[in-house]
Amino acid sequence: MCSRSATVIATFSRRMHIAFPEGDEAFARIKGKTLQPVCGDVVRVETLSGEDDWLITAIEDRHNQLSRPNRRGSVEVLAANIDVVVAVAAASPAPDWFIVDRYLCAAELMRADAILVYNKTDEPRLPGTDAALVNYEEVGYPVYRTSAETGEQLDDLRGSIGVRTAILVGQSGVGKSSLINLLSGPSNQKTSGISRKSGEGRHTTVNSMMLPLPGGGAVIDSPGVRDYAPAMSEVTDAEAGFREIHAEAENCRFANCRHLREPDCAVKGAIDSGTIHARRYESYRRVLRQIERLQNRSGG
Ligand code: GDP
Ligand code: ZN
Repeated sequence: MCSRSATVIATFSRRMHIAFPEGDEAFARIKGKTLQPVCGDVVRVETLSGEDDWLITAIEDRHNQLSRPNRRGSVEVLAANIDVVVAVAAASPAPDWFIVDRYLCAAELMRADAILVYNKTDEPRLPGTDAALVNYEEVGYPVYRTSAETGEQLDDLRGSIGVRTAILVGQSGVGKSSLINLLSGPSNQKTSGISRKSGEGRHTTVNSMMLPLPGGGAVIDSPGVRDYAPAMSEVTDAEAGFREIHAEAENCRFANCRHLREPDCAVKGAIDSGTIHARRYESYRRVLRQIERLQNRSGG
């Protein structure tokens, strides 16, 4: 028997496509019923006598994971070991900056880096767009103004992802699939390449896959990630998700200040002096209210 370490690069239902550090790829099935590897996982695999497929016997500790609550009330993991969350907004559908803020929150809570992309720069932009983008830059997020149509800033975005593993999140229709295709380049025949090798036919459903980028990084593409809505459950998640509010909070009089009506709140002071943007603060309050509503509903 031979045992190796590999990365999960595509998942069919219980069958996985894995890549070894040396670059060779193989198929694997999963030992038992409890292991649930996802795209991005580093796994231990063993050879099986008389079979081409490898057997996944263990999942290495994850640096982080992208998860969401599923209909059965448990948490479903969509992808693992993500270095950078790319939050995508666009000229159309009209940007919803609250949704962008929630994705940035999710990135902060996952301890992943975050990049903001404003796509479809070839289309007219709504008033207020530039101010919003500049504010994100001031908060410290790299912002790329891209067009999948003209190619604007695509090289810069690819360069910014670098050798990291990224996921693209954002409202439906902002151009995530278009950007993924352009970033990964023409060599990626997406599902058909894998299906050919697997002999499972080109219509085999790929749940999610990791597409290599020419620069050495990768993008994880999954339908679940594409319409991902992050779940936040603790009141402290709200503050942790807004880095400029989190930074200011240490100057509040009360350690448990929620920055609503508490006296001597440094966050309120920073809004008055203009160092914290009122719109971001509004998003913070909405996230906080959502979390409180969820907690009241669950009686917690
Ligand atoms: P997704 O739902 O976020 O994956 O968005 P898609 O990649 O499917 O794109 C939605 C639509 O917007 C498609 O019709 C794309 O051709 C179009 N689209 C994507 N990027 C751009 C862009 O930069 N400029 C313009 N004009 N259209 C774009
Ligand atoms: Zn405060």
